[in-house]
Amino acid sequence: AKSVRLDKLLANLGYGSRREIQGLARAGAIRLDGAEVADAGERIALDPHLPTRLTIHDAPVDPLPGLCLMLHKPLGVTCSHKEAGPLVYGLLPERWRRRDPPLSTVGRLDKETSGLLLLTDDGALLHRIIAPKAKVAKRYRVTLDRPLNGTEGATFASGTLMLEGEERPLLPVQLEVEDPTHCAVTLTEGRYHQVRRMFAAIGNHVVALHRDRVGGLDLPTDLPAGGYRVMNEADVAAIF
Ligand code: URA
Repeated sequence: AKSVRLDKLLANLGYGSRREIQGLARAGAIRLDGAEVADAGERIALDPHLPTRLTIHDAPVDPLPGLCLMLHKPLGVTCSHKEAGPLVYGLLPERWRRRDPPLSTVGRLDKETSGLLLLTDDGALLHRIIAPKAKVAKRYRVTLDRPLNGTEGATFASGTLMLEGEERPLLPVQLEVEDPTHCAVTLTEGRYHQVRRMFAAIGNHVVALHRDRVGGLDLPTDLPAGGYRVMNEADVAAIF
């Protein structure tokens, strides 16, 4: 089995610098299977069950690399590591923002879009979800400025709709009408501002946008805006 120095592992999980972690070990704060680890320079076997075996101040350590989260993105926060203003990463515990490999968003939602946003430190999983050939469907609930006229479903389903400034038509998009100014669209691409630009292309205007499903994974109704949850294997499997 692969092993890793405990100080490196915990530093990569955001618990502090190696020196700070050595301090925690010296103070008797780190335990493996209940036994104090006095030297954080010790190597330990990388085991997916470590989060239940390894504790700091009696609290289990965070999930190891391979962390996947679902976040209910609120309006007004940006899916970026760099931009100014509130970022989605600011909604997560401070320690998680220091993880290495870092958490990144699985695709993006606009600042003014709310809903289901996944984050992971697992590059292979990220790729599996966003790769164009994976065709993972995303569903958005849309509030419109003007009433639907009944032709939109056929236009979106045709696979011929061109967005301003692009050279390739959109793949077919499924439309479900709820009432004249509310609908849901399900798409497998993720072009820049796609939903807003689709409605602009047919002379309407999106006033609110919320994603409620990615693949077969629904935004839990009991997850409030700004809240997040660590995904389990069943949640990840539900995407595909
Ligand atoms: N389409 C958009 O226009 N915005 C999003 O955030 C997602 C899809």
